[in-house]
Amino acid sequence: MISDGDPYLAGHGDDTFDVEHYDLGLDYKVASNHLAGRATLRCRALHEAERFALDLHGLRVSKVTIDGVAPRKYRHSAGKLLLQPHSRLVPGAGFTVTVTYSGHPTTVPGPHGGAGWEELTDGAIVAGQPDGAPSWFPCNDRPSNKATYRFDVAAPAGYRVIANGALTDRRPMSSRVLWSYEQREPMSTYLATLQVGRYRSTALPGSPVPMTAEAPARLTDEVLAALSRQPEMMRTFVDLFGPYPFGAYTVVVTDDDLEIPVESQTLSTFGRNHMRTDWAGQRLIAHELAHQWFGNSLTTARWQDIWLHEGFACYSEWLWSEASGGRAAGRHASEHWRRLESSPQDLVLADPSRPLMFDDRVYKRGALLLHALRVTIGDTRFFTLLRQWVAAHRHGSVTTAQFIERFTEGAGPDRDEVSSLFRAWLLEPQLPPLPRSSR
Ligand SMILES: [Zn+2]
Repeated sequence: MISDGDPYLAGHGDDTFDVEHYDLGLDYKVASNHLAGRATLRCRALHEAERFALDLHGLRVSKVTIDGVAPRKYRHSAGKLLLQPHSRLVPGAGFTVTVTYSGHPTTVPGPHGGAGWEELTDGAIVAGQPDGAPSWFPCNDRPSNKATYRFDVAAPAGYRVIANGALTDRRPMSSRVLWSYEQREPMSTYLATLQVGRYRSTALPGSPVPMTAEAPARLTDEVLAALSRQPEMMRTFVDLFGPYPFGAYTVVVTDDDLEIPVESQTLSTFGRNHMRTDWAGQRLIAHELAHQWFGNSLTTARWQDIWLHEGFACYSEWLWSEASGGRAAGRHASEHWRRLESSPQDLVLADPSRPLMFDDRVYKRGALLLHALRVTIGDTRFFTLLRQWVAAHRHGSVTTAQFIERFTEGAGPDRDEVSSLFRAWLLEPQLPPLPRSSR
């Protein structure tokens, strides 16, 4: 029996082992949306087990080895690659799994539509949240298993390939180009991505962290206009949250319209329809950037705590509004509190249920909780604790319980008030009153 990695993702992940490093050698043919891969996973056993499993959706496995030899048995069905090695897994012992596979990748179906590999009109993206990673590589698909990655991806000449981390090499091979990326900071599977398109790369000046836009050449002007304040957003967030957690930040803008933008580690993907200079566009640009701290560097160990990503990213929109001379966070908070007051109050923020994990109330109620906390303990204490929270869990996994502990213990004379505030906002479905803001 393989245990699930996360109660919100039935059937995904395996708790008996961790993957420590993924080495993905991929060959992608854009015209036929065909992917051929060889994945080498360096793993470590956490529990004794006779069998273990990887997640891989839709693609066909042609060969598997464990430590260089064929396993005793393997079976690939219904998105699970079940593996039985010749000897049992021993806690603490390392082992290496290699999987050769190919096929036409598609999204993994789920209650929120498909996630993962998406073929575009001319190229492809990966939007892995929450369960789309198995659409393109065999993985231990639970958010608590962070690993480093290397990507070597061959694609037709004329296309740019963008993956997580740093581009370390780009080598022409007849009509194809081999792109190599390394993601050295640990990353959850859902944040791994590949973007393939006819993009032109433009550096954005004025950012304290290297910043690039990848977009179709004819969209360059509107993309640069929409992203013109992103370097300033970066400065604001570095100031408020502490150092940017990665080496660089890339924005990919697809030639297709996309329903929603999506965050991946070190980069975000937007549709051309999102490149707007008004608040509706700017708030999304701030939101996705903030996910690099909240979601990507600090990643929930379990999906039920997704407010630790979305509440923070949403509150970051309001913080950017305030810092950039727009409406103060308190005004956004009052407006959204009134909206939530007239919405059904049947959602528990610290465990919203799988069907409601992306409900807008998780985002807004999470942001409102942060504002309530800020008003209660004051700006100085709030932002100091926030920076401590970010620094203490940099590149790690987090839970709501850890957040409560840090902010309750750091609340000083407001400790009791903060404690009951957390109870009301996180554990009760009823919307609590919003503490009065002086701003
Ligand atoms: Zn978000």
